[in-house]
Amino acid sequence: MLDETLTEQIKGIREKKYSSFELTEFLLDRIKDKTELNCFISINDNILEEAKAADKELERGSDKPLLGIPIAHKDIFCERETKTTAGSQMLENFVAPYDATVVSNLKRAGAISLGKTNMDEFAMGSSNETSFFGPVKNPWDETRVPGGSSGGSAAAVSARLCSAATGTDTGGSIRQPASFCGITGLKPTYGRVSRWGMIAYASSLDQAGPMALTAEDCAIMLKEMSGHDKKDSTSAQVEVDDYRALLSRPLGKLKIGIFEPLMKELDSATSLVMEKTIEELEKIGMTFTEIDLPNFSYAIPAYYVIAPAECSANLSRYDGVRFGYRCDEPSDLKELYQRSRTEGLGKEVKNRIMAGTFALTSGYYDAFYKKAQQVRRLIKNDFVEAFKKVDVIIAPATPSTAFRLGEKAGDPKEMYLQDVYTTSSNLAGLPALSMPAGFVNNLPVGVQLIGNYFDEAQILAIAHQFQSITDWHLTSPDIPT
Ligand code: GLN
Repeated sequence: MLDETLTEQIKGIREKKYSSFELTEFLLDRIKDKTELNCFISINDNILEEAKAADKELERGSDKPLLGIPIAHKDIFCERETKTTAGSQMLENFVAPYDATVVSNLKRAGAISLGKTNMDEFAMGSSNETSFFGPVKNPWDETRVPGGSSGGSAAAVSARLCSAATGTDTGGSIRQPASFCGITGLKPTYGRVSRWGMIAYASSLDQAGPMALTAEDCAIMLKEMSGHDKKDSTSAQVEVDDYRALLSRPLGKLKIGIFEPLMKELDSATSLVMEKTIEELEKIGMTFTEIDLPNFSYAIPAYYVIAPAECSANLSRYDGVRFGYRCDEPSDLKELYQRSRTEGLGKEVKNRIMAGTFALTSGYYDAFYKKAQQVRRLIKNDFVEAFKKVDVIIAPATPSTAFRLGEKAGDPKEMYLQDVYTTSSNLAGLPALSMPAGFVNNLPVGVQLIGNYFDEAQILAIAHQFQSITDWHLTSPDIPT
């Protein structure tokens, strides 16, 4: 059971190789064995009951696509009667009164919720070290970070504590941890998946997506997670494809764009992984062309103005009155607000609220926030131009492999540079995935495929066909290659 993918688990339950109850018990034991990884903030106490109910439903002939499959949710998704903390002391005791659309969509497909995964506080971070609940450890090397902010989900899938998990990606939080942990992770087009019930960080960038071992598993998850939702006005009225059915279709001679300056920045070992990936993709018929993305290098500065600006507005609701942590014995109302926020929020989150508030202040708004928005438009225009020439863009996912716990924690600038290859697709709203493509010093390396708007089917199909001729995605920390 241990190394089975989501696809195999679906088959295993359907063909009665094992029941949902047996699979769930197996995973709960595995989670106990791996508590040192700190992947979960909470486990669903009712899961065995839910698994039994799923087994009964199967007996009655239900054909729900994910029936009885235990899925983990990043602890940013509200789930009814379940603690939803966003990795923060502020929400340590917050019990959500409703299910996020992502959660209810997956439940409707028959999935059962295994528990809530650890994450950087309010999804701000690239290493999981800003979590109030302590850092997650990378299953490939426990002295290293799993990436962030969806580090708990990535490490849980990589350590085989579940076959699939949800994540969110505002500037790279699905793709970077997927790359660090050797799994496949997809950030969909902005608007593809509803944000309703997902705790907001930067609303114009936040997007939920699947994290799993294979592109096929991500395809199955994405279909169930996606779709228009009238409760989220930015969710798109675009038909959801049957991603799995489209995985093996003939792709013809697709043109893949390469932006050369990105390749030049890589160290020689990572360069080699990129080159090998390109060779493999050539074998399945892809052709490669150079493209220009003249404003690419402005993505990080633009992102680190826009995201904090939006976070400063979104997080104002956590004031100790309407939501969240309240300080003890405040002397007056002002002190209640002040101390609740000072005590309840972590350092990185407060830094960003301050920076974001500054960027929105009258007198600075034009110089920072407006400028960043203008740059964002230029970045988007560059991609629109590039996609007139190519079908997909290939890029590194991260500048390095997983770094050591504590290595960058004291240096925000170093940490922000982690997002150098990922933030531009959030700013442009494009779908992008990271797929395992090799190892450097026994640590996984991911390669990124960026697709055109709402063309998740294309990047998933390329990743799937790449995975049918390689086996990086099937290596596991227990049995490395
Ligand atoms: N590392 C980035 C940040 O800290 C991205 C986070 C994310 O995508 N949620 O903002």
